[in-house]
Amino acid sequence: MSKVLVDRELLERTAAHLEWDGSEPMTTIQFAQKCDGLAGELRRSIAQPAEAEGIGHDTIVCWNCKENVTLEARDDEEGFCPHCMCELDLSDYLINANAALSAVTAERDRLLVDLERAHRATNSECMDWAREYERRKEVQAERDQLRAELEMLRDNNRKAAISDAAMAAKEA
Ligand SMILES: [Zn+2]
Repeated sequence: MSKVLVDRELLERTAAHLEWDGSEPMTTIQFAQKCDGLAGELRRSIAQPAEAEGIGHDTIVCWNCKENVTLEARDDEEGFCPHCMCELDLSDYLINANAALSAVTAERDRLLVDLERAHRATNSECMDWAREYERRKEVQAERDQLRAELEMLRDNNRKAAISDAAMAAKEA
């Protein structure tokens, strides 16, 4: 599996966005646009190899005294910490680093899947809303049409009544 470095702050912003409970004022379109923005940032992180961020730099932290130890200083002490003289087994560091990277990679993959899902859900919500809007417009047009017809019938009725009255007056 190839590894990449993803900024924790970016992961946190993505997670916070995915957890959006609708309480903040934001339209679904704004939500979708922010999804696109975050997806772009994640894509750029994926495109950047871990080496570019300085993985493989030559400093480790002593597991015992927590001091920074350069690999050169460790070599000078034949594999021991120059501060506390504990043995520093590099394979342990490698295992830990791999585990940490795997966790970050898994988290990134999970967030990407969530992001994609949220984006799809938002899009379908937008479609539902658009359909509802169209339906309402149709109902309104129908109502206006019926009102106009009713108005016309009333008008005809009024005219008929007037002409009846005029007829009656003439006969009288
Ligand atoms: Zn130490």
